[in-house]
Amino acid sequence: MTERTLAILKPDCVKKNVAGQVIARIEEAGFTILGMKMIRLTKETAGGFYAVHRERPFFGELVEFMSSGKCVPIALEKENAVADFRKLIGATDPKEADAGTIRKDFASSKGENIVHGSDSVENGRSEIGFFFSERELISNR
Ligand code: UDP
Ligand code: MG
Repeated sequence: MTERTLAILKPDCVKKNVAGQVIARIEEAGFTILGMKMIRLTKETAGGFYAVHRERPFFGELVEFMSSGKCVPIALEKENAVADFRKLIGATDPKEADAGTIRKDFASSKGENIVHGSDSVENGRSEIGFFFSERELISNR
């Protein structure tokens, strides 16, 4: 099944100047980029995006981090996109991530872990809608 998923290059990725390298890995893994932009989240928009985690102990830190610099949300499409992207990025904590994954190679901690990936097709759809309007998603090359 062709699926869509949302990636976000987080502020640590942009600050470390590895956005290009991470995008290259995404392209090499066969994902089609439907939409991409650079934005700075406010605390309010970061908290809205991660609302599902608002009761978790790390929520405040997560909101601070995600609003601490520029992010690059990227709408992706591919066969089996959701699971394949989670596999490409690796476990949340880079210490637990498999060798060769994006988080293993670029992330410094469980909080500052370089990239977001949607965890289901349904969440992928709503997360893409959080950042992109329908006309910003361009599927023909
Ligand atoms: N996070 C954190 N501490 C934790 C768990 C998560 O700082 O103990 C942050 C981390 O940036 C993670 C994000 O919150 O990427 C969302 O957590 P989730 O469990 O959804 O991990 P993900 O789906 O990003 O792997
Ligand atoms: Mg998650």
